[in-house]
Amino acid sequence: MALYVHKYGGTSVADPERIETVAKKIITAKSHGDDIVVVVSAMSGETNRLTDLAHTIQASPNSRELDVLLSTGEQVTIALLCMALEKHGQPAQPYTGSQVRIITDSSHCKARIIEIETKRILSDLKQGKVAVVAGFQGVNEAGEITTLGRGGSDTTAVALAAALKATECRIFTDVNGVYTTDPRVEPKARKLSHITFEEMLEMASLGSKVLQIRSVEFAGKYNVPLRVLSTFTEGEGTLITTEETTVEQALISGIAFNRDEAQLTAKGVPDRPGIAAKILGPIADANIEVDMIVQNTAEDNTTDFTFTVHRNDCIKALEVLESTCNELGARQASSDDSIVKVSLVGVGMRSHAGIAARMFRELAKENINIRMISTSEIKVSVVIDEKYLELAVRSLHQAFDLEATPEHAPVYC
Ligand code: ADP
Ligand code: ASP
Ligand code: MG
Repeated sequence: MALYVHKYGGTSVADPERIETVAKKIITAKSHGDDIVVVVSAMSGETNRLTDLAHTIQASPNSRELDVLLSTGEQVTIALLCMALEKHGQPAQPYTGSQVRIITDSSHCKARIIEIETKRILSDLKQGKVAVVAGFQGVNEAGEITTLGRGGSDTTAVALAAALKATECRIFTDVNGVYTTDPRVEPKARKLSHITFEEMLEMASLGSKVLQIRSVEFAGKYNVPLRVLSTFTEGEGTLITTEETTVEQALISGIAFNRDEAQLTAKGVPDRPGIAAKILGPIADANIEVDMIVQNTAEDNTTDFTFTVHRNDCIKALEVLESTCNELGARQASSDDSIVKVSLVGVGMRSHAGIAARMFRELAKENINIRMISTSEIKVSVVIDEKYLELAVRSLHQAFDLEATPEHAPVYC
């Protein structure tokens, strides 16, 4: 008998009607004789609503209290889905993260799963029940509720699949697979039948929110077969797989973009050893993660130093940078949050030179100025003005032959 973990995201459980659709889908899957464990997200928009609610009380609420609040979104959907399953004759057992005992560390709002107890779920399955688990949440050793970061239900699903040694983890969402780029930005995006873990990890970390980064990391580490499919249409979806089994090996697999970054610049910084550490040390001390870094060549013994951070950290980072600039006698600190990072991803790049040059040529053709560049073995990223995002993605998508034939056109719910 096979065991599948199904995960249904926010849009898939957005209202009672969709919850009933999901319940029927689970019952059909169960009727094939397989065991099914389900992970659900909060109804779409609910986590944002709860976050906003917290901010009406306090500008920066304590992350421990925030976790108690945010975890309620998923508690609602496990209850409603179990009711829908039972209404249609399928016994079900709801679980919050702490009831399963999904043990995490204590980093509230971005906790990592340490261990999952499977005893109770396995006993439910034996009794013919469907276990319905709240995604995105766990409990630390002290018994406090934790959450796993936005999009974290994907990680709950993959971690459960690993712990239960599931046949496959199926991420059901509002689009029928992983595409060459976000089909909301490029309607000509093509659905991929396969993508390697390495590429998916790169796409996710460069901004493709179709899967949370940690879920892909987890699946790669514990060898969990992972598939992205549509809740509302039939189909094979996209299999996240190891490189060896990939059939189609294109040069570029996809284009990712990230609107969540902001750029900070220190101008006229004295050019002497230790300056990078002096600038970035206080940023790290303020618990702000830095992504890209560029230091220009020196003129008149001074240099310009630019880096990017998450947009939510922009104001805090500028305050820190201003104070460092004063200390160092630098000319000016500034920030810009109207930037976006666009990246080409593909394992095929390893064996082909000139991808970056071709990318820059295409952007130049569209008169798009590149502010920063970074490359790795399987990706090239550029930072550009946000207003050029759609133009950049679409022109690169066409230039690198990623467009869909009609039978691969995007399908939404
Ligand atoms: P869920 O609520 O089910 O977790 P998400 O909104 O987190 O769904 O993820 C699905 C969305 O991811 C799609 O609607 C799509 O707009 C977006 N997305 C971004 N990049 C891609 C991509 N390369 N392929 C498919 N979807 C993508
Ligand atoms: N509800 C959480 C969020 O909106 C977790 C998830 O949906 O995966 O981020
Ligand atoms: Mg998601």
